Parts: sequence; structure tokens; C-alpha cells
Amino acid sequence: MRYGLLLLALTIMLTASCSTPAPATTEKAATTEKAAAARKYLLEMVDDAAVVQLYADGFDKLPLRDKTLLWHLYQAAIAGRDIYYDQRHRNALEMRAIIEAVVSHGQGVDAAALDEIRRYTKLFWLNTGPYHNLTARKFVLSMTPAAFNAAVMKSVSNGATIPTAAGESLDAMLARLQPMFFDPNVDPIVTNKAPGAGRDILSASANNLYAGGVTLADLKGFKEKYGLNSRLVKRDGKLVEEVYKVGGRYSKEISAIVGHLEAAVPFANEAMATALRALIQFYRSGETADRVKYDIAWVADKASSVDTINGFIEVYMDPRGIKGAWESLVFYVNPEKAERIKALGGQAQWFEDHMPFDPRFRKPNVTGIVANAIDVIIETGDSGPVTPIGINLPNDEQIRERYGSKSVSLTNVTEAYNESTPAGMHSEFAWDAAEANRSRRFRSVSDELHTELHEVLGHASGRQAPGFKGSPDEVIKEHYSALEEARADLIALYYIGDPKLAELGIVPAADHENIARAQYDYYTRNAIMQLRRAREATHLEEAHMRNRQMIVHWLMANTKAIEERHRDGKTFYVVVDTKAYREGVGRLLADVQRIKSEGDAAAAAKLFDSYGIRFDPKLRDEVVKRVDALKLPSYTGFVMPKLTPVTDSSGKITDVTISYPQDLTMQMLEYASMTR
Ligand SMILES: [Zn+2]
Repeated sequence: MRYGLLLLALTIMLTASCSTPAPATTEKAATTEKAAAARKYLLEMVDDAAVVQLYADGFDKLPLRDKTLLWHLYQAAIAGRDIYYDQRHRNALEMRAIIEAVVSHGQGVDAAALDEIRRYTKLFWLNTGPYHNLTARKFVLSMTPAAFNAAVMKSVSNGATIPTAAGESLDAMLARLQPMFFDPNVDPIVTNKAPGAGRDILSASANNLYAGGVTLADLKGFKEKYGLNSRLVKRDGKLVEEVYKVGGRYSKEISAIVGHLEAAVPFANEAMATALRALIQFYRSGETADRVKYDIAWVADKASSVDTINGFIEVYMDPRGIKGAWESLVFYVNPEKAERIKALGGQAQWFEDHMPFDPRFRKPNVTGIVANAIDVIIETGDSGPVTPIGINLPNDEQIRERYGSKSVSLTNVTEAYNESTPAGMHSEFAWDAAEANRSRRFRSVSDELHTELHEVLGHASGRQAPGFKGSPDEVIKEHYSALEEARADLIALYYIGDPKLAELGIVPAADHENIARAQYDYYTRNAIMQLRRAREATHLEEAHMRNRQMIVHWLMANTKAIEERHRDGKTFYVVVDTKAYREGVGRLLADVQRIKSEGDAAAAAKLFDSYGIRFDPKLRDEVVKRVDALKLPSYTGFVMPKLTPVTDSSGKITDVTISYPQDLTMQMLEYASMTR
């Protein structure tokens, strides 16, 4: 489970200033003046995306052994990057090769054509392919195919090489891919969970997790052996599982990953080395039993200061919610920030015992909650350049119940978000000055706390009803991701107002009420603000967006905590009663937990159909107008730090240095060259 897409944008929305990266609140400015003066966060805007540099300040202080370990894991992260491009669309890597040729060899290309191809290519990199990561819809080139083809030919005459399929000319390749570059109606949606009556979710989704026209009906009676790590292909009317492993699908990339992981093992401590060896074994066999062993070994490694996530992890891209998208993160623990999060994890049982849901669904022993504040070195695949801010893994519910999970909060990502906030937003969606001021003063701490509660307590809590067989995601199906995110958010919203937090010293008692209120304000406003991410959509698709929409609209329908108000043609959702708010959150949480614990698929569908999926297009248009007037980004993509090894004459690594490229194009072309 990951946390963040939405919160990230919220974070951005809540810092004020005017189209410059400098933070505008005096408080913020005081604490970050030095850093902001010295470094650049916001690098550029591309359409509705912000491009921001990520920094990892603690890296230089790490011992050489850790730096060397990180270097090998960093290379493993880049080695698998192309897998996710291919998973997003079967043509994505071919398309990328063509546009990268123009961007890297653009001398003499018509200036307007080159500008448009650069814009498109940057979006393509940020979104890992031609689909917007928030709306799931395809974006296209705004130019004529003739002008595009001329630019491509020019780049080839400038020395660019574009690999073509056997027996296919470049002309034929361009003609074949033309609809993907230019026609928004060809393969329009990467993940379509609601294609409309009579249409199939698999054939309506353009991703490459299924191929050959597989439909849900084909899966009836089919025993899927490699749920997480295979592509399902229909060949001659028969279903085949193409397993992702060495010797299987993505063998080239996975073999390269394995090579770097093997190089990393000698620099890892024993627990991490065990986990890495288990991961290597899983990549070799592709067998679920080996994936389970790896998950268990990864959770068992609780002490390493360096860690990685590398594999087929999150299932949001699959309309069925089964197939894993490849991703990698490489990170180290940020010791200062880890302290507060540890305090929460240490009290997990107390929080579990006080959950406002049926005691039968509480865990009698919350085991192995590991919460860490980390700094990321690199994120690729499904987690970069657009990144979550919190992650809790593994996703395997049975392992979570027996062995626990690890939870990380990506502190340098959150920091970069806050520092790169581009525009004056405090007042736009806040009803009055009191609300805007509360945001200004308490936003940072209340966001961090919300993330920690969501990850550390939220996803780790609860259990299935006695006698429940199987896994809740298999029963609740397409609503499971959103339901689980709702559950974790509700737990965070419930406990952010609990006196226990002040008692534990996690928040200052004097500010506690304001911190909780700031989060309620902010979470509620988001139900309006997030509609800007649904520019062309008719309903909400992404799990986090659905869950947030559902919670706020449920509270509006079932409590007196929130009022809808209007002023100057603008809509506001205003929190008017925090007590009623928290009480409502507790009631909804009790129901959401019951739905998960009992696997009540019908109730989950009803909850999201009633409150979480549809929206008023007029309100969306209003929000888009307000946001556009402020020039706010809908999402952010990050330029990652760059690692460079220093070697002695024998080739032994004597140091690893870190630098910050501050240039998306440079970094993306470099990554592509590393996997060619
Ligand atoms: Zn989550």
C-alpha cells in the first residue's frame, strides 16, 4: 500500500507564494531560508506537472559500506525501470525510443516542432508512458504526423539510432505507432475499472498486463498460478501465463537486476543479505512460495539502516487488482525523524485496543510494526518520477497478519514537495482567514502526522472475521484498494484528534486541537480540490481519490460536521463541528472495517457507488478554473539524486558521491542509456 498521490498535491496546495519556488509563510521561510537560498527545488512546469529536484542530505555522512550497498541497489533500480514502461503499454518503449531520439538529436529540427516534442516527451517520462498518472487517460502530440515524422527523420540523419522490429522500416514503425501518438481514442485509458454497462474492464484497459484480448469471462474457471508476477495472454483461444522471471518475460531486465543485487549482498548486514538472497531466488524461479519467503525475510529485517523495495508490488494499475506493477525504491533511515514514528509504532497495541470498531476485528497482538522515516536515493518504475510519500508493505494480507509489515515515510520527498510549492493557495479553498491561518501554521506537522498514522497504525491494524477464508482483496475485488485506503485514512483521522498523542509527546498539548482541526479542514477541502485531477474524466478512477471523496461525502450525508457554502460563485466545504467530525469518522471506520473483515463486497460497492465515484462536472469545471488561475500543478515528478562511484586503480570502490542533476531531460536520457 502506498500513501501520497493525493496528499502530496494537497501539501503543495497549502503553501502560499506566487509562481516562484520560495516558500511564502514567514514561519516556513525562517526554518528553510538557508536551504531555499542555496538550492533549487522547483525546476520547471510541464503542463499541469511540476518537476522538482529531490535531495538526500544524509547520504554523505553514511559509512562507505552503506554507500556502496546503496550504489548497487541504485543500479538495480535503474535496471528494472523499462519493465514498468512495458507494463503500462505494449508500445511505450518503442514510443520512448523515438521521442528520445528527437530530444537528444534535435539539431536542425523545426523549432515549434521540437518544443512540442520536448513537452510531450517530458510528460511521457513523468508519467512513464502516454497515460496521465492521475486521470489514467492518454495524452497526445499537438502537431501534425507529417511534422513529427520529419523531426524523427532529422534526428536519424543527426546520428540517432531507433531500433525497429525485425523486417520493419522506420517509416512503417512510425505509421504503426501514429494512432498511439496522435489519436486520443485509440487505447484511451490505461486502467478502466468502470467502462460502462456491457463492457469488459480488461479489454477496456490499455495496459499490457493482459494481451491478446483477454476478458474477465476468459478467466472463469482458469486457475491463475502467478497472480502477481505474470502477464495473461490469450493465444489461439487459450490463456497462457507469461511469468516475470529470469528466463521468462522481462528476462533481460530481471537478470540485470539480479546481477546488481548479487553485487549488493556482501555489503548488507545478515538480515538484509538474507532478504536480498530470497529476492534473487524469487526473481529466478518466479514461484509464489519464493515470493512469500522473500516477503517474510524482508519484514524480518527491522534493523538495517539501508533498505530497498524492488519487485512487482502495487496492484493499482490492474483493473482486477491482482497483477503487480514493477517498482524500486532505494533508501536509508533518517534517524532524527524516525524517532516520533517509532514512538507511535511502540504504542501500536494501545491504539489497536482502542479502535472504534468491533473488538472481534482488532488484532490481539499487533506484531512487527516497523515504522521508519527514510530518505530516498532513487525511485523508479511505479514509484518514480511520480512518488508516494508513505509506503506500507508487504501487501500480502496473510503475511501482514502473521509477520507484520514495514512502514516508511519518505521524508525528503515530503520536504521537496513543501519547498517547491509554487502558488498562493492558502486562501483559495479555505472559507475564512482563520482556516487559512490554521493551515499555514499547522499544515506541515498535521500532514506528517496523518501520513504516519495512516501507515504505521492504519494499514497494520485489524483482522479478518473468525472463519473468513482467503484474502479480502480477492472477495472485494475492484473496490478493495479504495476500501483499504479509506480504512487507513479513517484511522489517521480518528487518532489525530486523540488525547493519547499529546500524552505520548507526539504533539504539543497546546497545539493539539489546532493540528487536528487543520487536518480535518484540509482533508475536507480536498474533496473539492482533487477534482482538478479529473479534468477530462466523468468519474473518479484512482483508489486514493475515490476513498477521499467517499469519506468526505459520507460525512456530509451522515453527520452535521461539514457545511457546503458558496461565495462569489465559488464552492467551499467547511468543517463546522470537529466533535461531530471525529464521531462520524469513528462510525464510518467501524463500518469500513466490518466490510473488510467480513469481505462484504456488496456493501463496499454500495459505499463507493453512493459517495466515492461520481462527481458534479460543474463543480469540477469551477475547480479547474480556480486552480488554473493560480497556476497550480496537479502532480509533481522528481529528478532523483545521482550516485557516482569513486574507484582506486584496482577498481575497488573507495567512495560514492551524490549529486543533483536539476535537469529531467539529462537524467531520463542517462537512465535510458544505462538499460540500452
Ligand atoms: Zn495507504
